[in-house]
Formats: sequence, structure tokens, C-alpha cells
Amino acid sequence: MAVRKITLIGEDVLRREARKVKRFDKTLHRLIDDMVETMREAPGIGLAAPQVGVSQRVIVIELEEDEEDPQSGTLYEFVNPEIVYASEAELEGEEGCLSIPNIVGDVWRSQKVVVKGQNRFGKPQKIEAEEWLARVFQHEIDHLNGVLFLDHVAGPEKLRRLVKVVDENGEEHWKAIPMVEIAEPVGSS
Ligand code: ZN
Repeated sequence: MAVRKITLIGEDVLRREARKVKRFDKTLHRLIDDMVETMREAPGIGLAAPQVGVSQRVIVIELEEDEEDPQSGTLYEFVNPEIVYASEAELEGEEGCLSIPNIVGDVWRSQKVVVKGQNRFGKPQKIEAEEWLARVFQHEIDHLNGVLFLDHVAGPEKLRRLVKVVDENGEEHWKAIPMVEIAEPVGSS
């Protein structure tokens, strides 16, 4: 296994429609293993193959274990994932992306989705995901269609930049600063 380089916004591969996987071979297994390692190392909670420069329909997701969320703590690997149901009910929530460092924004997503796809051996698999997990599946599957979370953000007032600040004890923290404050013109008439 190896940590791969994460592609950043501006790179073509992130805007391309990824190809369907047809061969469930060693190369695919190595890709998936590397994606899991890259996601954990980042650290992140989801990764799509275009984010490691591979234009193929593969995603991995792992939410941190949370007692109150039965779908957390499990590693999900999906090849050729497809959303076959998305609830009309939506939730607004904060998203970030390893390919768009230090920016977060509020995005509306279906509260529940059903995703069909295959595992690394080509065996069909299906999951009903809710809340956070549903959000992450929608975010990652978007990547396979060249869509980024920024495309869903309603306006600059829904975006924040994360900056590192040092408190009085000398400890570093991340602070979210609204983009509109940063973008505010100085001394405009
Ligand atoms: Zn992303």
C-alpha cells in the first residue's frame, strides 16, 4: 500500500466524467488499498479515485466511530456506485474536500440515499445511507461526474476559509472565517 498524491482543484481529472470499472483485478485492488491509505493519512472521511488522479468510478468512505451513529466506523469501498434513490427531504451541512484545502461551505443534500454498486471483486452491493453518511456518498459520487461541492454552494456567504490561529496557551486551532469578510472591499467608495 502507498499514500498517493491528492489532486487539487484546477486539475482536469477532477472535472472529467470517470470511466466505469470493468476489470476487478490486482490493479484495482491496489488502487483501492492506496485510496484507503491516502484517505486515512490525509486524514479524510471519503475519497474518490479522480482525487488520486485516476479517472475511474471508485470511492472509499470511512466515518469516525460514533456511538450514536450506527453507520460510522465502517469502511465502505464502492466500485461503479450509483445513487438509485435520493430522498426529497434535504439537510444543509458543512462540507470540505481534500482537493480544495482549507475551504468549507454549506451544501444541501438528500437526507437519505440508496447506493448500488460493486465491491472490489465485482460482487453487487447496496447500502441505505442516512444523514452524514448519505452526504459523504453524494459528495464522493459527485467526484465521479466531475462535480465539486463548490458547485452546490449557493453563494459566497455560504463559504468559509479555515485558518490556523494560536491561542494564549500557544496551542494551534482551526478557525472558520466567512469568505464575505475576506472579500469585503477595503476603502471602497
Ligand atoms: Zn471531495
